[in-house]
Amino acid sequence: MLDTFRKAARFALTEMDFKIDRKVLLRRQRVKRWADRNRAFLRRKSLEHYYKNKARNLANCKRYKAEHAAQTASRFKEWKERNLEARKSYMRKWNAANRPKIKAYDSRRRVRRRLREQQAFVSDPFVNLLIAQWKNEPSFVCYYCNQTFGSDRLHIDHVIPVSADGKHTVGNVCKACDTCNLRKKEKLPNRIGFIPQTLMPF
Ligand SMILES: [Zn+2]
Repeated sequence: MLDTFRKAARFALTEMDFKIDRKVLLRRQRVKRWADRNRAFLRRKSLEHYYKNKARNLANCKRYKAEHAAQTASRFKEWKERNLEARKSYMRKWNAANRPKIKAYDSRRRVRRRLREQQAFVSDPFVNLLIAQWKNEPSFVCYYCNQTFGSDRLHIDHVIPVSADGKHTVGNVCKACDTCNLRKKEKLPNRIGFIPQTLMPF
């Protein structure tokens, strides 16, 4: 008897659920059909809303990012990893579609770099003599990691990079191993946690 009752109760419940679900489903379908018919209208409305509230939204975003800096950064990192392939293919497509733009940008960058180098490579007659001397030595001590290497791994590095207005002078060049130099790239030493082992680079 109890069993029958339970079964009936369960059935009633599922029947009711089904009816509610069906109602919801029908309403969703109706809304979807309406949205399909009025796509342009909805798009216009949403754009209007976006531009009307743009300043406020951006301010909110900025504030949120400032308040949750670490969280935002880690979420962004996760997102980048999750979408690695998609991002790569997007970049490939973008690069292919924007060849002239990239070319122009690169050439502008090259010009700027040459200018910086011309400004940097002035008026220190001793620096190139010093470098020539360094290159003749069979081994060297890396300015950054303080280890000894053979001359085949010698890189000449600008402590303050040329890109950051460092000069090609005796006081600003140092001996670095390839690992340290490639790791450093164009960053300032203190920005990547490098602590120079000696104050003078030679
Ligand atoms: Zn090193």
